[in-house]
Amino acid sequence: MSDAEIGLIGLGTMGAALALNIADNGFKIAVWNRTTKKTTRFHEDASDLSDRIIPTEKLDELVAAIAKPRAIILMVPAGDPVDDQIAALRPLLEDDDMIIDAGNANFHDTNRRAQAAGELPFLGIGVSGGEEGARFGPSIMGGGKREHWDRVAHILTAIAAEHDGTPCATWMGDEGAGHFVKAVHNGIEYADMQMIAEIYGVMRDGHGMDHPGIAKTFAKWDDGPLKSYLIEISAKVAAAIDPETGYPMLDVIVDAAGQKGTGRWTAIEAQHLAAPVPVIEAAVAARNLSSQREARAKGEDLFGSAPKRLHDGMLPHDTLESALIAGKIICYAQGFGMIHAASDQFGWALPLPEIAKVWRAGCIIRSAMLDDMASSLADDADRNLMFAPHFASVLKNTHTALREVVAVSTTHGLAVPALSAALAYFDTMRTARGTANMIQGQRDFFGAHGFARFDGRTDQHGPWEG
Ligand code: NDP
Repeated sequence: MSDAEIGLIGLGTMGAALALNIADNGFKIAVWNRTTKKTTRFHEDASDLSDRIIPTEKLDELVAAIAKPRAIILMVPAGDPVDDQIAALRPLLEDDDMIIDAGNANFHDTNRRAQAAGELPFLGIGVSGGEEGARFGPSIMGGGKREHWDRVAHILTAIAAEHDGTPCATWMGDEGAGHFVKAVHNGIEYADMQMIAEIYGVMRDGHGMDHPGIAKTFAKWDDGPLKSYLIEISAKVAAAIDPETGYPMLDVIVDAAGQKGTGRWTAIEAQHLAAPVPVIEAAVAARNLSSQREARAKGEDLFGSAPKRLHDGMLPHDTLESALIAGKIICYAQGFGMIHAASDQFGWALPLPEIAKVWRAGCIIRSAMLDDMASSLADDADRNLMFAPHFASVLKNTHTALREVVAVSTTHGLAVPALSAALAYFDTMRTARGTANMIQGQRDFFGAHGFARFDGRTDQHGPWEG
């Protein structure tokens, strides 16, 4: 019977959770997975939701089970599997049937797929919130033709997280706009996590705090301006005990961070857009360097370990909290600046305040601060978030703490690359007269590139002594 309201391909971690969420919200869904055993097990495990789930063993069975015009979600790994799956599916579909790529595609691929689809309905949607979000309410960033989004918006908004009754599912723009916004989300996620890890390092190595004490500090901050999912889970991660050894989990976890590359895409794209995101770049670099464990051990043997331990009274917790607040504002200012630049360059008209709103619940970077960011961006979306009255006022109260943390950490050999990048950006962006006059002089000296003078004349040269 062709009565499923939607179909889904790929019953891995995210696909299975999303399918259960869709069924849980009252929609009938047909599912298919490359490995049939997984489909069978998924259906058996769905217990009371199994009536709303139609398991299928072949692609044409999946297609036949869905009501026309069809909509089919792909939840397979980004890259070739998406192209392969589209190629296998399209011949089985009719012209008004829609394919929705809900994985973490690179937005350039989504642009390419949307162009290849032409008039055939195709959406690229970014889904954030991990397995838990996919099951109980993710944040959804949609891209593609508006009329195609509107066709499935009732399902996507029903399954999305809600913030004060507003669903966190929004159409961002054409083609790869949704996946682009998701990539920036992930870049900000890298930066947010890295800054928290750096402050954790100051507490662990600088203050010599134990993990329960660190957990309590994060938990306390989760009641203040830093309230966010990432601070909340950092408290829980720091409090967790390894059942095998009885040690804190953080003492048994290897200090080498993994990544799937979405933060790197953001950093690379920011460079293409000439909208730098140095805090995100520092976070991506820090993850890469974390993996060079052998080299780091060799470095410590060669140069000795840094002093690290701070004197009593240095960098009290309030100062660390304020530094994180400042770092976070600066990081988001860069992320939204990048979105603004992309909006211009790709002609997307990305809705900045709506993006802040869609991140308020369901996704990994959800935080109390995003509410104020949405209001500030609504007042003037063109502006650097650092200059919006509310955040300018918060930064005025916190940037000295950021400087103190970076300065003291640096003199004690505690590496704080993302916080340092935030401070350098802040200092750059409040310096009316910078030092690029020297760069221009050098460029003209060796390459006759020309320079502008303060008296208004442009394309000027030397004279320089050879
Ligand atoms: P999993 O590895 O858990 O599952 C992948 C699924 O895709 C499996 O069902 C697998 O089928 C299927 N698959 C793999 N390769 C192919 C292929 N070549 N053709 C057809 N089907 C294939 O991945 P996730 O669920 O974690 O991720 C899915 C997508 O969601 C990715 O793009 C990921 O980046 C994105 N994402 C993941 C998040 C997460 O927290 N995990 C968060 C947000 C987005 P089989 O059983 O046969 O192997």
